[in-house]
Amino acid sequence: MYRRISRPLQLSRSFSRALSTRATNVLSALGIEPKHGVLRGVYDGKWGGTGAPVVSKCPTTGEHLADISTATPTEFHELIERSREAYHDFRMIPAPRRGEILRQIREALAAKRDHLGALVSLEMGKILSEGIGEVQEFIDICDYATGLSRMMNGQVIASERPGHSILEVPNPLGLVAVISAFNFPVAVYGWNLALSFIAGNATIWKPSPSTPLCSIAVTKIIAGVLEKNGIHGAAASLVTGDNHIGDALCESEHVTLVSFTGSEHVGQKVGKKVQHRFGKVLLELGGNNASIVMPDADLSLAVPAVFFGAVGTAGQRCTSTRRLFLHRDIAPKFLDTLKKAYASIPTGDPLVSSTLLGPLHNDRAVKNYHRQMLHLHDIGAEILTGGKVAKLNGFEGGNFVQATIAVPPSMDLDLWKQELFAPILNVAIFDELEEAIQWNNSVPQGLSSSIWTRDVRNVGKFMGPAGSDCGIVNVNVGTSGAEIGAGFGGNKRTGWGRESGGDSWKQYVRWSACTVNYSDAAPLAQGVNFSL
Ligand code: NAD
Repeated sequence: MYRRISRPLQLSRSFSRALSTRATNVLSALGIEPKHGVLRGVYDGKWGGTGAPVVSKCPTTGEHLADISTATPTEFHELIERSREAYHDFRMIPAPRRGEILRQIREALAAKRDHLGALVSLEMGKILSEGIGEVQEFIDICDYATGLSRMMNGQVIASERPGHSILEVPNPLGLVAVISAFNFPVAVYGWNLALSFIAGNATIWKPSPSTPLCSIAVTKIIAGVLEKNGIHGAAASLVTGDNHIGDALCESEHVTLVSFTGSEHVGQKVGKKVQHRFGKVLLELGGNNASIVMPDADLSLAVPAVFFGAVGTAGQRCTSTRRLFLHRDIAPKFLDTLKKAYASIPTGDPLVSSTLLGPLHNDRAVKNYHRQMLHLHDIGAEILTGGKVAKLNGFEGGNFVQATIAVPPSMDLDLWKQELFAPILNVAIFDELEEAIQWNNSVPQGLSSSIWTRDVRNVGKFMGPAGSDCGIVNVNVGTSGAEIGAGFGGNKRTGWGRESGGDSWKQYVRWSACTVNYSDAAPLAQGVNFSL
């Protein structure tokens, strides 16, 4: 139960001053104009929220962008009720019609794609082209789900009894909560919403407390389409807030599925809490991804891919390359070339199109980076490049660090087993593929992996039963990023969840096995006789 006594919303003390032109340009293009610095962060058909605010802060400049009001316990319970009302009607709309409405949402998102991408860049800190790419992912999954809305097929199964048929029928689940992480403040919701929506559920989004503006901008766009189509806005509601709101969603008996994206530590709590009430849970947790480079690899492809995987999004993707295993024969050449790329990384404002390395998301991440660097020094790791917190002229309030390549002294260290959300790439050298695969699989997480080779035998080993144990197994493709067409997710402590493409939609429906008897007799299965 969400009973927390929250501070009433207080108008911000800090908004007598104006926002920078940089931030104003991004926000006003999306019609976001904080009044006295405060925005309403709850939507369930109407905008509201008078609970204690969360703060949106720009990671690049440190600028305080806005205070966003959250839901009080009463408002939270009202939102659940509105969502139940919305579901009551929404489930009856034929799936292809829901698909048509999703197509309109896709069009509305596409019209604002670049502006939304800039907001992702402003608030999360990833570079502009990645911010836009993230919105493109939402658009892509809308296309996918629109098509799927005419293909959510169950099976017709041959019955052993005469005059009988068995049908597998998908129906909506009810209320689906999407709890998302800061590093994909738009796309993760998109993957979930698109499938949940065509399945006929009412979806409740609780975004990261540090990226509320992205969630407000997206929800405004979706709400406009719903309202135009006469659909209850709570079919796609929003509740900003911190862990207390997340907790309340996990505990609510009315929420059938909790789709959670975030850290292993929180995912473990979420998993237990939802399972405790026998709810359904989908977990997308941390990654600790490795690339293996064989002696026959095309280095002109592998080096840039590892560079992007380790440095892109400042190492803050769940699929970022954190471990690099190089075959001894190519290691010196590979590292020389990679170090040259690291020597001139354009670092700075992620909104500037030439920037490749933006800031970390918050100062806690900078502290974690710094602590890890001290640890690497303490254990005698070789730091090939980087290693320092960076202060950039004009961005003194930003969370910048240097992208780092380190060679730890042994494989028998805890640091190999933990996901650290920063651009630190740890390198080791191997002699046999089997050894590299064993290292790849020796961590608790199992999200993404990649091998660089031209030898089909290596490909077979890596993809087969004794190969990579990850949910994503790439060949001559880096670990970072994925297309929406395949089911996305990881194994082991990454949580076993699958979202986006493939068969993922099947998790957003409840399945009924319906046996229909068209005959004039009522025989029992397996020939059981129970007649008087
Ligand atoms: P986080 O675990 O700190 O927070 C994630 C979400 O959980 C936030 O919305 C937060 O408010 C909420 N939350 C916190 N405590 C909660 C509780 N007790 N109950 C319910 N909800 C609660 O994660 P983060 O720092 O925002 O994101 C980074 C992590 O997310 C990394 O570990 C990254 O690998 C992971 N991630 C995984 C994927 C994937 O698909 N596997 C994708 C993106 C991010």
